[in-house]
Amino acid sequence: MLSNKMIDMLTEQVNAEFYSAYLYLSMSNYFEAEGLKGYANWFFVQYKEETDHALYFYKYLQNEGIQVDLGAIDRPDADFTSVLDILERTLAHERKVTAMIHAMAKVAQEEADFRTSQFLLWFISEQAEEESTARDLIDKTKLAQPVGLYHVDQELAARVYAASANPPVTL
Ligand code: MG
Repeated sequence: MLSNKMIDMLTEQVNAEFYSAYLYLSMSNYFEAEGLKGYANWFFVQYKEETDHALYFYKYLQNEGIQVDLGAIDRPDADFTSVLDILERTLAHERKVTAMIHAMAKVAQEEADFRTSQFLLWFISEQAEEESTARDLIDKTKLAQPVGLYHVDQELAARVYAASANPPVTL
């Protein structure tokens, strides 16, 4: 049985993950307009992954017998100024998400909510990966600027969306 506090946090996370998806879609939209189709592709794949994350929380709540209270999703930022601006904001955003996941994991532990603790482990690993990937992308872009940006763009064009082979819940 999930506590009301846990249900509220998990519900908020459904919204936060949809917001992440929407933010990355907005970033993809910016890159597309700038002619950086590889970066646009990379962020479009990111958008799909974040949608999956939202659905994992959604499904987890449903599997616990809870009707999910779906709230409004905020309008995403669109005032981007450069490639690096977007990448720095991506890292900052992922750090914020990590803090939310960790706060939930802390509550789950305090409440001896073992099921939620176990469910959140997937996200704890995922966030470490997200932050590391964002840092790599920042480094790579800094090294490549300005002449090599085309090559990084080509590399990012190759990213293909694949649903997680080992999701925390089945969608
Ligand atoms: Mg996420």
